[in-house]
Order: sequence, then C-alpha cells, then structure tokens
Amino acid sequence: MDVSAHREWMYSRVLPDGVGLKNTFYEGVEIFILHACQLDQFKNEGTIRCPCLICDCLNNEIPDEVRDHLYKKGFRTNYFYWTSHGEEIPALVPLTQPPPSVFGQNGCRENLTSYEQMVMDVAGLSFSPKDEQSMEETPNQETQAFYDLLAASQSSLFEGCSSHSELSASLELLTIKAEHNLCQEAYNKIVKFCRRTWPPDNCMPPNYYRTKKMVERLGLNYEKN
Ligand SMILES: [Zn+2]
Repeated sequence: MDVSAHREWMYSRVLPDGVGLKNTFYEGVEIFILHACQLDQFKNEGTIRCPCLICDCLNNEIPDEVRDHLYKKGFRTNYFYWTSHGEEIPALVPLTQPPPSVFGQNGCRENLTSYEQMVMDVAGLSFSPKDEQSMEETPNQETQAFYDLLAASQSSLFEGCSSHSELSASLELLTIKAEHNLCQEAYNKIVKFCRRTWPPDNCMPPNYYRTKKMVERLGLNYEKN
C-alpha cells in the first residue's frame, strides 16, 4: 500500500449529500497542519505554504488560514506526497501487505479513519513481508510498537466518546502546542486538567513526554520543547 492510498482522504472532502465535509478530511487536515508545524518555515516565520487548490503552495499563510482554504477549496491536485512540505517521493514504494489481523480476509477495510491510515502508512513503509510472517507469532519490539500505535488510533478516548481516539486527541493537542508555541509545562497542565475532567477511564497519555514517544512512531520529529 503506497502513500497515495493512505492519502485518499485528501481528495474525498465533501460528504455525499454535498453539505459539510467528511470527518476523515478534517482529521487529515489536522495531520497536515501538525506536519507543517514541524517545519523550519513555521518555526521561524509562523507560516505554512498553503497547499490549497488556489494558493498551490505559492502563498504563505498562518495555520488557521490554511485550514480555512483547505476546507473551502481542497488540496492542489495530485499532492499525495507533500513535496513542498519536506517530503520526498520515494524512488520505489515498497510492496507490502497489511497484517491480516487488522484487515481481515476480504482485503482492505473501508472504514479506516485517516489516523488509522496514517499508522498503516508508517507500517507499510517500515515492515517487510518477512516481518509480517513473524507478526502472528511473537511480535518483536518494533511490531509491538506498531500494534500499540494502531490500538491508540482505534480505541475511544473514553467510553462513549465517538469523536476522538487516544491518537487523534494527542495529535490535536500537539498541533495546538506547536501552533501557539506552548512550553511543555503548559502542555502538561492542559493534559492534567483534561484527564481530571474527563471520565476516569480516559486513555490520554499523561504528559508531553509520553505523547511524544507515541507520536514519534509516526515519523513526526519533535524538538525538545
Ligand atoms: Zn490557500
């Protein structure tokens, strides 16, 4: 499965009734914004090259403006690889099969959220078929970490919460931290407050360090602060 398959959400923006946007698109835009907030341009200037259909990566905008453009106009065509945002098109996309325990016997699940897709994306690029055979048996550290991440993308933040998983909530909060240049202490205080006010079974990682450790598996690199 190549990256373009995992970024189908980019070009599946509007709900079938034509009113409103799909949740997978909203989630995906957050993933994009979080990615772009890690780049030097944002850190130095507070702006992102806007990849919307109109700006075509030629205009620099603040994250809120980029969100707005993407909601209204969608992404520029064929922007599966975010080459104006630090990504490279791989010379050869590895041909790997997703693990059967996740996808069942009938092939690809159709209701993957973009967060699950992102996890599978990372898995597709880093697991070889040899790894997969051993996955069923005793998962090594790497495969265990993948399963943990996948579970984080699938489990509700707390019982009855249908809008967020552990992973999606963590990514959104990290985006807020990056956008507003919050220090770790502020991040930890917000998380502490959330965990105290949400139902006690919530699975939000308790602090920035733990969140960072989880999200680093997605290949998003975080600075110390
Ligand atoms: Zn734009």
